[in-house]
Amino acid sequence: MSELVETLKSAIRTIEDYPKPGILFRDITTLLGQPRAFRRAVDELVHPYAGDGIHKIAGMEARGFILGGAVAHQLSAGFVPIRKKGKLPHEVVSIAYSLEYGVDEMEMHKDAIQPGERVLLVDDLIATGGTAEGAVKLLKQMGAEVVAACFVIDLPDLGGRRKIEALDVPVRTLISYE
Ligand code: IMP
Repeated sequence: MSELVETLKSAIRTIEDYPKPGILFRDITTLLGQPRAFRRAVDELVHPYAGDGIHKIAGMEARGFILGGAVAHQLSAGFVPIRKKGKLPHEVVSIAYSLEYGVDEMEMHKDAIQPGERVLLVDDLIATGGTAEGAVKLLKQMGAEVVAACFVIDLPDLGGRRKIEALDVPVRTLISYE
């Protein structure tokens, strides 16, 4: 195991049967609470894009706000929140996206992205990829150039990476749990 993987995995807590029986929930709040691990995760998310002219980071509610905000600061980029339906105060664009069971809607402010802006999508974890797929489609609808989608954790068995790569967006993840 590399030093990075060890640092991150030892800071992430796994909770059995949350939010329902049979699910192993990867809880990054413990990572966020450890200064060294938090900084390491953010530095690793940032470094391929330093000097790459990223205009905005888009982060998904809610853990994407924490990681994405830190990444935006490091890259001197703006931050765009992508939120669950009904939470944003100004005019929005929205898209339906698939959850494990059923669908939901996510929204972004209409004026949050200018056409041609280079945007990086950030979240804590990619599982089925349904959430990130919705976000990428929304950003592309607004004319963004989605440079990459970045996650701390990949659950590769659930196939999310392929779903995003099929949209011609590279996926970068730091650790994975088979
Ligand atoms: P997906 O849409 O199936 O890829 O699920 C990813 C979304 O669900 C992300 O916004 C994650 O924050 C959240 N998520 C799913 N499973 C976990 C988990 O085990 N830990 C933390 N977040 C999770």
